[in-house]
Amino acid sequence: MKNDPILRVYETFAGIQGESTRAGMPCFFIRLSGCPLRCAWCDTLKARPFQAGHDRLVSSLVREAVESGIPLVEVTGGEPLAQENTPELCRQLLSAGLRVLMETNGAEDCTVLPEGVIRIIDMKPPSSGESKKMLKKNFQTLRPCDEVKFVICDRRDYDFARSALAEFRLADQTPNILFSPAFGTMDMPKLCEWILRDRLPVRINLQFHKIIWGADAEGV
Ligand code: SF4
Repeated sequence: MKNDPILRVYETFAGIQGESTRAGMPCFFIRLSGCPLRCAWCDTLKARPFQAGHDRLVSSLVREAVESGIPLVEVTGGEPLAQENTPELCRQLLSAGLRVLMETNGAEDCTVLPEGVIRIIDMKPPSSGESKKMLKKNFQTLRPCDEVKFVICDRRDYDFARSALAEFRLADQTPNILFSPAFGTMDMPKLCEWILRDRLPVRINLQFHKIIWGADAEGV
């Protein structure tokens, strides 16, 4: 088949959206292999090596997503934008009539994606050890449909997220700014208290997949 590139895929599965404004919805996940970052609390360690998983044709991934019968598909990782054929996968998923979400780590250029893809961009806070690798352009070119997520472990992470909110005028670009208390680490009432005290225009985002399947559930 013409234009049928290959992607390294760790796994595909039908699951429940864990961390976005669509949390709780059935979703078909395509988890690509490989990530150049080394977040201290990475919860997808098995998918992080670029050699993990196996090669798949883009056409077979699209067929599987369509046959799942779930109209919502998320491309995740690892870091999906670390593979050059990911935009083509997204183009073909969109052409198949699916709603496409992209969960990405903030360090790769999101503007390579087709217009119809909804970006869920993780801005890595200091506790990750990777906050300096964030690509500013990603946070200056958001659309109202896009989402920015901060996984918050402690007060330092909260202060970082609050500063980013102001620096990039995130809430002027999208209503979907998510503060996600790190499961089992961040005291949730405390985070709510800080947000309320500062009157931040953000939304608390619980890690649904960990609540449902336990603390060891992999990130989505
Ligand atoms: S960006 Fe995601 S996959 Fe990569 S190291 Fe961080 S948590 Fe793990």
